[in-house]
Amino acid sequence: MISPPIFVTQPDLPDLEEFIISLKKIWNSKWLTNNGEFHQEFEKELAEYLGVKYVSLFANGTLALVSALQVLRISGEVITTPYSFVATTHALWWNGITPVFVDIEPETCNIDYKKIEAAITPKTTAILPVHVYGNPCEVSEIEKIADIYGLKVIYDAAHAFGVKIDNNSISNYGDLSILSFHATKSFNTIEGGAIISHDEKTKKRIDYLKNFGFADEVTVVAPGINAKMNELQAAYGLLQLKKFEDKIEKRKKISEFYRELLKGTKGIRYMKDIENVKHNYAYFPIFVDDNYPLNRDELYFKLQEHNIYGRRYFYPLISEFPAYRGLPSARTSNLMKAKEVSHQVICLPIYPDLDLKDVERICRIIKS
Ligand SMILES: *Cc1c(COP(=O)(O)O)cnc(C)c1O
Repeated sequence: MISPPIFVTQPDLPDLEEFIISLKKIWNSKWLTNNGEFHQEFEKELAEYLGVKYVSLFANGTLALVSALQVLRISGEVITTPYSFVATTHALWWNGITPVFVDIEPETCNIDYKKIEAAITPKTTAILPVHVYGNPCEVSEIEKIADIYGLKVIYDAAHAFGVKIDNNSISNYGDLSILSFHATKSFNTIEGGAIISHDEKTKKRIDYLKNFGFADEVTVVAPGINAKMNELQAAYGLLQLKKFEDKIEKRKKISEFYRELLKGTKGIRYMKDIENVKHNYAYFPIFVDDNYPLNRDELYFKLQEHNIYGRRYFYPLISEFPAYRGLPSARTSNLMKAKEVSHQVICLPIYPDLDLKDVERICRIIKS
């Protein structure tokens, strides 16, 4: 008998009865979008929960990224990683910016800060790293480089909701950080996102830009876009926030169980928790090397035969897609580690309601 399908993730929804109460409030007020009551409260509570100064809510993470580059007037070339979701690089493209890919560090899958300096040219204006799987980048080292060369740093923190280093939010590093609240992320508002900023002036500029550039009724300060989060999503997000810590605890248990069961399996590597980091356990990637009897794709499809649908995050590399593969920095010899890891990775299912029995079954298949 074949078990029901298990996907890499399953979105977590708020309590429906509670959400209906919020919906009734919205129906009564008839305030649906444009900085309504729920929107204001959600921004405030998120800032408090995350331990950051300012949150600006967005309709999704991609528009937050595209807008963040506008906020800081980034142009020319930006140094980034090929090992991410395509939106990271697409945001540069939408701003007419040339992406410059730098290789990754396989232990964390993040951009290798030691290779950033060599990629800087007179046209470089910023660095756009990603906290891949919620693993913090080498933020201090990246800051040093940025300071020396006068570059801005925007972190794609789409995977890193709630992650802390030494009890300090990961989103307090860099000039700006962006978050995604897409249904597949550890914290979701169906679709949604945010920019984290550190001073009031910048927060204001972000908020103008996500609302067509309007500073007041008659003043348009820049060609902004429409990227506002609506009241339904904000109300939904407020309910999600209340139970997020419990969800992290559940994910942590699953992650620990995977590690316990997979420990010592020849040819299977998994990530270790980094000391001084509060993780969010958003993903559970494994890396299949030559010591395993099957190659990555063989294991990936073998799992599918058992109705288990992991994902090859991130394969192919962004630098391999037609829009980017012609760039000088996209050549394979520049991105050897990223290439290797992209051919080894499978993200195994992880979500708060995943049954530990299913984790056991998945590991049994991998080990058999
Ligand atoms: C999900 C994701 C995005 C895009 O966020 P959306 O909310 O889906 O637009 C950007 N970067 C990374 C690394 C992501 O995983």
